[in-house]
Amino acid sequence: MTPGEETLRRAIIDGCLSMNAAGINQGTSGNISARFGDRMIVTPSATPYARMTPASLASCALDESAEPEWDGPLPPSTEWRFHHDILSARPDIMAVVHAHPPYCTAFSMARQGIPAAHYMIAAFGGADVRCSDYATFGTAALSRTALDALTGRTACLLANHGMIVLGETLDKALWRAVELETLARQYHHSLAIGGPVLLSDADIAETKAGFATYGLRDRDDSLS
Ligand SMILES: [Zn+2]
Repeated sequence: MTPGEETLRRAIIDGCLSMNAAGINQGTSGNISARFGDRMIVTPSATPYARMTPASLASCALDESAEPEWDGPLPPSTEWRFHHDILSARPDIMAVVHAHPPYCTAFSMARQGIPAAHYMIAAFGGADVRCSDYATFGTAALSRTALDALTGRTACLLANHGMIVLGETLDKALWRAVELETLARQYHHSLAIGGPVLLSDADIAETKAGFATYGLRDRDDSLS
């Protein structure tokens, strides 16, 4: 393992611990992957985050193989398939975060996406965050429906399951995960008092342009 790979593996473990600290993860249901060259590194299956070490993460090649060969002492996350397929299909994306945070998951159980109720929706690429169709966890069908819901976006909800958030860096994926759960919570509260007035596509386009104008693109904790 090169020093660069070890640093990335430590950052993935730190990311898992930060999901716990932010209250967006329950138990070991969340998982994180990151691109390293032409390979993917992903958290192992059913392993408490506090016990993970850089060596306990799994890795495989990002190729067309439906059943990749795994490197590592533990089996990969049961959700490795959508991590693998997203990183293969989206070369601009360096990291994928998956979790079952309460408000995102509540909307996913109702099979509702999140509309343009707040301008921060633009941080996910457009005027909404879609909810995918339902498919059983860990399957190729779930991977296909997730990729569909992620078209032109950096996040989606998974029906009756949870959320997926993407990042151009691992930090951006983790930042977006917290932002999405916050947005879902705010939207939920708004529905309780009669529902939001939705922003127009023009409002969202202006917001995206504004994010760029304010130079937020280049910061690790930035918006797009
Ligand atoms: Zn899950």
